[in-house]
Amino acid sequence: MITAYDFSLFQQDIDQLSLNKSVAIEKIGESVLKKPIYQLKIGYGPRRVHWNGGFHGNEWMTSMILVDIIRGLVSNKHIFKKVTNCSLEEIFQNITLSVVPMVNPDGVDLSIHGEKKAEEYVSLVRMLNNGHTTYSSWKANIRGVDLNKQFPARWEEEQKRKPVTPSFRDFPGYAPLTEPESIAMARLTEYEQFDRVLCFHSQGEVIYYGYGAKEPHESWETVRRFNNASGYEPVQTVDSYAGMKDWFIDVFNKEGYTIEIGKGINPLPLSQYKSNLKKASQVAYHSLVFHGD
Ligand SMILES: [Zn+2]
Repeated sequence: MITAYDFSLFQQDIDQLSLNKSVAIEKIGESVLKKPIYQLKIGYGPRRVHWNGGFHGNEWMTSMILVDIIRGLVSNKHIFKKVTNCSLEEIFQNITLSVVPMVNPDGVDLSIHGEKKAEEYVSLVRMLNNGHTTYSSWKANIRGVDLNKQFPARWEEEQKRKPVTPSFRDFPGYAPLTEPESIAMARLTEYEQFDRVLCFHSQGEVIYYGYGAKEPHESWETVRRFNNASGYEPVQTVDSYAGMKDWFIDVFNKEGYTIEIGKGINPLPLSQYKSNLKKASQVAYHSLVFHGD
């Protein structure tokens, strides 16, 4: 039986994957409640591709999917070849893949298990939860900051129209990059100099690929391949700033994508898991191929 994917299930998968010689696991930072934020790395090529998930607490299905995709890549190599026409060995001579499946472990655990996972933040989260006893709408980190509104890309505009104090969702913080989880992601990105970044969220079955027309022209080609493979609709602009992909496109002028998996209300029902995994895998596989190489 599949169940909601909390930090402890994730940790079990990390322990399993750490036994596999083709996966290198490292801790890139810690959440507010000192849970590790893990990066998984595969391959040794010069092109750098990055995937992340679990930025938002109640979007834990993205973490589950990324771990499943990694497990599939390292154990079932022929699937990949069938989809992309390239062998995995070829790909990983050309690519180094970095994956951070669970950016916001505190928010994930709060959204699944409720305030018993809030530790010293119990009274704060209770106050921010608008009288609800379940935390299934919770997107923020444990301090009520929306980690995907923390990046310095028109952050001030987001600040003006979003909550001005901590909230279960959408509060961009009192300044950009104040939270340990978003700081870890920004530092990792600066250090690794990724060529292509895919941020997995839910829901909508769309792929946001632009940022104020600053995205490189390859983005359109790539997003069309993603669309052909998955059916997810490409969307160039959206009235939302200060996300990781916005900042990545703005600062590095490289391809950045926000992939919204699934349809419905977060957290997505587990009955959707298989079909979401299938579509998201298509996007993920195709992101490992650079045309023109
Ligand atoms: Zn999200």
